[in-house]
Amino acid sequence: MGLLSCPVCGSEELQVKPYETWPPPDGMQLSPPYEDLLGQASYEVCPNCGFEFGNDDNPGTAPPQSFEDYRAEWQSRGSPRFAEEYGRSRVSARSPRQGSMATLDAVRERIHELAAVIGAPRQCLPTYGRSEQSGKPHIEVTTDGRMHWVVCERGSEYERRTTLKRDELLYWTFQAVTHEMASKYEVQHRIPSEDFRKQMFTKQFELLDQLNPAWTERRKQELGPLRREAGL
Ligand SMILES: [Zn+2]
Repeated sequence: MGLLSCPVCGSEELQVKPYETWPPPDGMQLSPPYEDLLGQASYEVCPNCGFEFGNDDNPGTAPPQSFEDYRAEWQSRGSPRFAEEYGRSRVSARSPRQGSMATLDAVRERIHELAAVIGAPRQCLPTYGRSEQSGKPHIEVTTDGRMHWVVCERGSEYERRTTLKRDELLYWTFQAVTHEMASKYEVQHRIPSEDFRKQMFTKQFELLDQLNPAWTERRKQELGPLRREAGL
């Protein structure tokens, strides 16, 4: 009883209101990030479509996605039920500690598969479950199934991004990996007559394209006007 309907897919499985003010007042023009209009987001993930309220519409590292955009993208993938995809990789509740290690292993395995595609050197890859405290990212998986991309240096935590979606974690990871690879490449192949960023970004796009063309597009969006400034 009391389950609420998802504004993206219509499935009636939400445990709580997606935003503080819900349903939205009549006639309100909605655009993401929705919490600007509707107050505190729930961060609940719809088990059917996988939309995470407050994260997908306000990801911080990517352009916000509207309910309509997300729905169109999800339907174009054949409307897969999120809880089933997620459930398969999800660990047994009986031994969360062991299960969480298993998931971290699965994440590491996938990262190493993708790293092999672009020939990423081991020193560009993150560490798992612990930090070297050197500014190199590391990945944690907590027993609630959340994955964290974390940057620590000399005992201080500088950045922590958290998601339930493995693809999101993989994008964060490989955005950083390809950036580092592209920077090194540019230094070794510098063209003195042009802005160094031109070759660096071009190389990063080329690497991301080998992994997932949608990641290239996302990176281009994130760079915004910097691309033009760099001469691209
Ligand atoms: Zn939904």
